[in-house]
Amino acid sequence: MHCCTCGIHNTRRKRHQDASLADISPRDKSWDVHRAQAQDVQAIYGEAREFERLAERIGKCSGVLRFSETHDPETGEVRLKLKEAQFCRVRHCPVCQSRRSLMWQARFYQALPGLIEAHRGARWLFLTLTVRNCPVDDLRGTLKAMNDSWRRLVKRPEFKPVKGWIRTTEVTRGKDGSAHPHFHALLMVPPSWFTRHYVKQARWVEVWQSCARLNYAPSVDVRAVHPRKGEDGTQAIQQAAAETLKYAVKPADMTTDPEWFMELTRQVHKLRFVATGGALKNVLKEGQESDEELALTDGDGEQDDGGRVGFNWRPADRKYRRYRQADAEPSG
Ligand SMILES: [Zn+2]
Repeated sequence: MHCCTCGIHNTRRKRHQDASLADISPRDKSWDVHRAQAQDVQAIYGEAREFERLAERIGKCSGVLRFSETHDPETGEVRLKLKEAQFCRVRHCPVCQSRRSLMWQARFYQALPGLIEAHRGARWLFLTLTVRNCPVDDLRGTLKAMNDSWRRLVKRPEFKPVKGWIRTTEVTRGKDGSAHPHFHALLMVPPSWFTRHYVKQARWVEVWQSCARLNYAPSVDVRAVHPRKGEDGTQAIQQAAAETLKYAVKPADMTTDPEWFMELTRQVHKLRFVATGGALKNVLKEGQESDEELALTDGDGEQDDGGRVGFNWRPADRKYRRYRQADAEPSG
């Protein structure tokens, strides 16, 4: 028979039944953070009849997490790996948003060695394009105009040498309750970028201003992704990808101002926030997000004895805690 598998001795079962996920595995503390944020978003949606269905779905998101468990042979530290969970896939659910970001990062990392191999000497740029803040109820029109502007940008001679790109949209809340939409883009460029094709920051401002048909100089940030000392650059590219693929709306912005957040939800309905092109086209397989994909359980190639440690969400204390024994399914 399988006894306790979570690393705390059997005789302390009574206490350990209620042990929190964060206590057993401090590196999984972010689950509590995101799930608590989801609970707050659920409460906001639950107040408005038009968002009732979303509130209901978020309420059922990631209620139970089942992990496999290993121990670090040197430190004895418990290592949990998520194996099963059910996600709501509501666009602004903080849990699902965070899982989606990890899933896209994983897909990009998987493709990266092949890309590096196929495009020897390629370099990477991290580009942020903004426009002035708009009233949140103009967000939809502003984003549509920005998407058109991007389509014009990729046709510009300055953009021609770019071999592939990933572009995401982020919207933050201005202090005055406005919306600040901006694009983050990761560009793969040939080695000649820094000699023959170099585009200075000031030129990016001009080009973006022209493509976006603005009567002011917009704020543009561009930086080359530099490998750190002693590294081949993969880590630096991954870090830039993580920054590009982080989140669309900061959870704190969702909950600070519920009216703003509900209007944002209406405004961005069915607008796509991720686009890819050139050699990076479809590298993220946008739109595909099964529970398994969001749990990142596929293709990890790790040994798995089938044993599971289960935690469920306790709304009152805003923590995941170990299953009560009576709830646990027999294992083995
Ligand atoms: Zn969710």
